[in-house]
Amino acid sequence: MAIQSSEAIVLNRIPLGDTSLLVTVYARTLGKVKLVARGARRPKSRMASSLQPFCVITVSFNRRENRELQNLSKVEAGPFFRHIGEDLTKVGYASAVCELVNRLVLGEEPGEQLFGLIIRTLDAIDRLSAEACEVLFWRFQLEFADVYGTGPEFTSCVGCGRYPEEASVRFSPSLGGILCRDCQGQADQDGETMQLSLGTTRLLSRVRGMPLDHLPRLKAVRTSRQEIQRAIRAFYLYQMDDGRELKSLKFLESIETDGKENRR
Ligand SMILES: [Zn+2]
Repeated sequence: MAIQSSEAIVLNRIPLGDTSLLVTVYARTLGKVKLVARGARRPKSRMASSLQPFCVITVSFNRRENRELQNLSKVEAGPFFRHIGEDLTKVGYASAVCELVNRLVLGEEPGEQLFGLIIRTLDAIDRLSAEACEVLFWRFQLEFADVYGTGPEFTSCVGCGRYPEEASVRFSPSLGGILCRDCQGQADQDGETMQLSLGTTRLLSRVRGMPLDHLPRLKAVRTSRQEIQRAIRAFYLYQMDDGRELKSLKFLESIETDGKENRR
């Protein structure tokens, strides 16, 4: 056994037994780890208050090889993104970041790069306006896929490598990129591709390349927003074995619908 200590962010927590918690974290040095926090739900436990979503914590545990669950021995609270909890939209998008990582990362891995990306994204959600969250989440999803070398291609055709100049192209979630007019026919036999206007593909390149703090200034017309939403969503649904939607995105849809009804 070796004592491991790492900065981490809580991805998920569920009750375990009568008094404990099963906490899934993404740790800077270890990637995804499942920790049992014994007694964390007892009234006097100090662990529970640190093991909250969107808190950066330092976890220590005796790491046992080939065990799915590790026993958490110590947790220290670190910075807390306090503005996220003040706005339901921010909570929804921050939860979507954590849920997506939890769904797609299978276990331990060198975590430095993704940990940095998660923290930068939560920090931007915390500091910037709720209206900026949607574009911040697009950016997170593109960079998340880039970390694993599977980032979707929106500038050149994945069939022939040409830079399309036609007014619209097709995006294939399974091929992970756009297809020019010439390559569409043979690649889309099962009808899985979707339309992206050339303007939308250019917007996506800007989402990828801009400094995070400039993203709120990006203007997207409604059709581009819808095309981007649909394409990134389909891309990730294809990546997830069970093809289940993120619960956080359903939550965000429900608050958006409530908002519209209240404005009527
Ligand atoms: Zn092509």
